[in-house]
Amino acid sequence: MNNSVITFPVPANEPVKAYLAGSPERVALEKELERQSNLVVDIPIIIGGKEIRTGDVGQVTCPHDHKHVLATYHKVSRKEVEMAVEAAMEAHKQWSRTPWTTRAAIVMKMAELLATKYRPIMNAATMLGQSKNIFQAEIDSACETIDFFRYNVHYASKIYAMQPKDGVGQINHTEYRPLEGFVLAVTPFNFTSIASNLCMTPVLMGNVALWKPSTTALLSNYYLMQLYKEAGLPDGVINFLPGSGALIGEVATQSKYFSGIHFTGSTATFNSLWRQAGQNLGKYISYPRIVGETGGKDFIFVHPSADPKAVATAAFCGAFEFQGQKCSAASRMYIPKSLWPEVLDDMKRMAAEVKMGDVKDAGNYINAVIDEISFNKCQSYIDFAEQAADAQVVLGGKCDKSVGWFVEPTVIETSNPHFKSMEEEIFGPIITVYPYDDDKVDEAVELCNTTSPYGLTGAVFGRCRMAVEKITDALCYAAGDFDINDKPTGAVVGMQPFGGARASGTNDKAGGEFNLIRWIIPRVIKETLVSPTDYRYTYLK
Ligand code: NAD
Repeated sequence: MNNSVITFPVPANEPVKAYLAGSPERVALEKELERQSNLVVDIPIIIGGKEIRTGDVGQVTCPHDHKHVLATYHKVSRKEVEMAVEAAMEAHKQWSRTPWTTRAAIVMKMAELLATKYRPIMNAATMLGQSKNIFQAEIDSACETIDFFRYNVHYASKIYAMQPKDGVGQINHTEYRPLEGFVLAVTPFNFTSIASNLCMTPVLMGNVALWKPSTTALLSNYYLMQLYKEAGLPDGVINFLPGSGALIGEVATQSKYFSGIHFTGSTATFNSLWRQAGQNLGKYISYPRIVGETGGKDFIFVHPSADPKAVATAAFCGAFEFQGQKCSAASRMYIPKSLWPEVLDDMKRMAAEVKMGDVKDAGNYINAVIDEISFNKCQSYIDFAEQAADAQVVLGGKCDKSVGWFVEPTVIETSNPHFKSMEEEIFGPIITVYPYDDDKVDEAVELCNTTSPYGLTGAVFGRCRMAVEKITDALCYAAGDFDINDKPTGAVVGMQPFGGARASGTNDKAGGEFNLIRWIIPRVIKETLVSPTDYRYTYLK
């Protein structure tokens, strides 16, 4: 019997560990990297808690050493997706009625396990499988994942506490029911934290999920399933379905129990899922909740009053950390002609200082892009720029796939504000720069606002605060997360809830209560204390 009101106050953010040579966290991580490097994990499908091996297998390799096989995985067929729907709906019976504080306790335990025992496991798997260096893995697969767990519990407690007022002789309250079906979580390769969050946000609110993990993030995602189980998540609440996204999307969106999509990935994939849901609309019990964070063409806008050193650092880190594969990565820059030579020189100096290579060598700042498709895409944009009359590659540009999918940090300079790589998302370590005439700031701002269909992140640099204010206002629809005098990457849970509009998604802000609200359907209950027994209006009496 639990008669207590439990509160979950605002948590602290998980501290980022330093990983200095010889530190306990570094020693534990290196040991785990060694262990995972010498294993070939056999990743099953997991439905209703049972491991299923179809024998239709694929391989997971290290992006920075593509001959190194980390795991094999079993692909689902139509039958397993249908089984997963059944298993999810079976789990729904109990999970949707489990007290929210019990669900919260399980999620809080996930955070504790990840902060301790699972920290080296998740970081090593993310480093090897997604080619992140120590720092990039730590801020993603450890800290951000933990923050999502803890903050979402806090936000859930705030939502559940939102109640209507009572009337005379009546008690009112809102029951925050989970959706009456399952949520399809379709997750991207680039953040282990996003993969976890897309499943766990609906699940915390009492929902059940079918999880389609990204094939190129399977190793870390499989360890997440182990973490969830150890924390006490009941079987069938999340069903893990490696395999073809197109097949899983097609089968899931045909079920009458399909209640929502929680998606992060490219705009094209999201649009196709939304279309499928639209085509099947008549089959569903309720209108599905469609939540997606999608592509971006994130920008840095530099005012003539900006500090060139700060701009160069932001452009370098914003465009090249994790090989430009953050959804928020800077990929186009508008800069006054007077500042560009100094900024470019500084970026060249930084590029000369950093090394590129295997994640296990802690001296490497840059690692590999995720796979051959991404490598070829990057190379094709660089080739295009090298051959174009209105652009030139002014930094980097070399690609080498002999060992891993390595693309040098690359800067393309163009005199054409509509140059292909100023408009299209590449998702690699390539930034295109358009130097504009110093006296044409307003025209350049207008270009920045209208050049791309996306609206995810952006940054403005300037020491003239009034100019910064004017630009911030002019670009008010160009980004859902906007930075003043800092790079557009690096949003932190609890501080900068993340997401964009336009072609970048539904902007339901991961890491905030707006997102959690999408996974509940409220029922309002009014209880009348003494029921009326006279039908007449007072003036008729
Ligand atoms: P992707 O669209 O290729 O894949 C995302 C997921 O969808 C994967 O699990 C994939 O297997 C699955 N999928 C692919 N085709 C499908 C289909 N037809 N039906 C159903 N599922 C399908 O994206 P990605 O390469 O994993 O990630 C990179 C993209 O994600 C970039 O466009 C990036 O901007 C975006 N992204 C956005 C955010 C954000 O917050 N806005 C965050 C991270 C990544």
